[in-house]
Amino acid sequence: MAIERTLSIIKPDAVAKNVIGKIYQRFEDAGLKIIASKMAHLSEREAGQFYAVHKERPFFKDLVSFMISGPVMIQVLEGESAIAKNRDLMGATDPKKADAGTIRADFAESIDANAVHGSDAPETAAVEIAFFFPGMNVYTR
Ligand code: GDP
Ligand code: MG
Repeated sequence: MAIERTLSIIKPDAVAKNVIGKIYQRFEDAGLKIIASKMAHLSEREAGQFYAVHKERPFFKDLVSFMISGPVMIQVLEGESAIAKNRDLMGATDPKKADAGTIRADFAESIDANAVHGSDAPETAAVEIAFFFPGMNVYTR
């Protein structure tokens, strides 16, 4: 098992609901350390670049509009298998399909407004961390 770093975003819906603290508590209770964080209100250009992998998908425009609809909280999480652990905490993309007790089951409204983002693999984690925190390492040890 490896210590990994992953990029997490608390999306505009969850920031607006005032649940940043509750979501941070879940990261910490799961043994993930918040080693960098910043609040930002993304521009259309930034959101489009960040989600460039989805640019051909039918939901791309809605996704970008949603991500720039209000401030987001962006963090790097570090810990044992942090990438998979964060995805487990998040739950399925569609909150209706997310397991009970996951962040999306508890705080998300819809597949558009689904509370959190998390990197899905070491390669995407590296790219996403560099996007928001240039100069940071992905693996610590
Ligand atoms: P994630 O890794 O679980 O966030 O899901 P994806 O990487 O597949 O998609 C990125 C984001 O696009 C999701 O978190 C959703 O907000 C949005 N999204 C994905 N699939 C759909 C869809 O079928 N319809 C809509 N409206 N949004 C979607
Ligand atoms: Mg994804």
